[in-house]
Amino acid sequence: APTRLPKVVGADVPVPLEDGRRVPYANFDYAASAPCLEAVQEAVTRALPYYSSVHRGAGYASQVTTAAYERARETVRSFLGAWERASVVFTRNTTDAMNLLAHALPPGTTVVVFETEHHATLLPWKRAVRLPAPATPSEAIAAADRALAAAPQGPRLLVVTAASNVTGELWPIGELAQAARRRGARIAVDAAQLVPHRPLDMSALGLDYVAFSGHKLYAPFGAGVLAGRSDWLRAAEPYLKGGGASASVGESTRWAADPQQRHEAGTPNVLGVVALAAACETLTAAGWDALVAHEERLLARLRRGLARIPAVRELNLWGERHPRVGIVSFTVDGWNARDVALRLSGEHGIGVRDGKFCAHPFVRRLLADRPADRSGAAHAAGEGGCANASAPDSAVRASLGLGTTEEHVDRLVDALGELARSAGSAPVHAGSRVRPH
Ligand code: PMP
Repeated sequence: APTRLPKVVGADVPVPLEDGRRVPYANFDYAASAPCLEAVQEAVTRALPYYSSVHRGAGYASQVTTAAYERARETVRSFLGAWERASVVFTRNTTDAMNLLAHALPPGTTVVVFETEHHATLLPWKRAVRLPAPATPSEAIAAADRALAAAPQGPRLLVVTAASNVTGELWPIGELAQAARRRGARIAVDAAQLVPHRPLDMSALGLDYVAFSGHKLYAPFGAGVLAGRSDWLRAAEPYLKGGGASASVGESTRWAADPQQRHEAGTPNVLGVVALAAACETLTAAGWDALVAHEERLLARLRRGLARIPAVRELNLWGERHPRVGIVSFTVDGWNARDVALRLSGEHGIGVRDGKFCAHPFVRRLLADRPADRSGAAHAAGEGGCANASAPDSAVRASLGLGTTEEHVDRLVDALGELARSAGSAPVHAGSRVRPH
């Protein structure tokens, strides 16, 4: 029952509308950053009195903090189904985790990656073979297999997302892992959008590396994870050089042999890590069946509602029936994505994301067959940022999570219906909509 689901902090925080009214916020931007769970807030509150530096101090608070930090590593290990000797390196986020892995690759490693990836997973590699968006999941497996087979001698790594941050679609990571194994390659999985929505078992799936971010998993910003095989990490130069990563320093430096310590130089984000681990524990304790059922029910309601509005068209790579997490991106005929997002916010208190979601090649490709919107050219600035939003090839993304309710979904569907019917009106200009509060 929905009442037993973990609660998020600030689910119904009041937000101002342009007409001066205040309404409870309808947050549809979980895929960017999810609000904290109440249990996460409590775990941080409990840790604060013992707030102290890890690993180095002998004082009681330092011992308590160190124990909490190392316990968090074990929590993450079991949350991911990682094996006992797998490394669990705490990073800042998924971007940092992927860059750490790129840094740790043995010289001459060939990386194979699909162009459908988030930039965090698309860009860090020095030498990458970039595969076009596959037409079907089986084509993804076949294309990865061919590319890995054709790679030059030396180490090979397939990098792939588990759930798309654009379409929410689930990728066949288990089969891709098998294909990688057949070709003597390893596989690294971007699980940033999977772990808030589905369980993951690295050992059962045969995944070599997994990366994710705490702030998409109902914990605050600033802590993420790279988990996986230890050998490359142990052999690589420390990602950052400094205290913590060094075993002894004299004329020369001997670096820590432990792959986790080796790549966690500097005072770590203990509270972030404690929060992230609390989120892992809370989701696991709630039970995935309940979490998935809640999400599927609301996602189905949302997509049924969207399907009744002819101007609203979903973005899907593998068709509307392919399984997905609670993310749906769409365009509204005749509307610029930025204007849709600003109207939803200013007139309805609904928070969605618009833009290309840090997946420019993928979104461009998904939108290639759609007519440009009327007003896009007028807003096409700011290409560099993630939330650049206003180019004619942008979309709107609605993503769900634990604080989402039927009322939120109905409000979004009704607002979009209203907006689609008024498509003949002049576009709203971004500058006039932003108000401090
Ligand atoms: N990969 C995916 C699939 C994502 O959705 C995101 C965040 N939008 C990232 C990587 C990057 O995460 P972060 O910004 O926390 O590094």
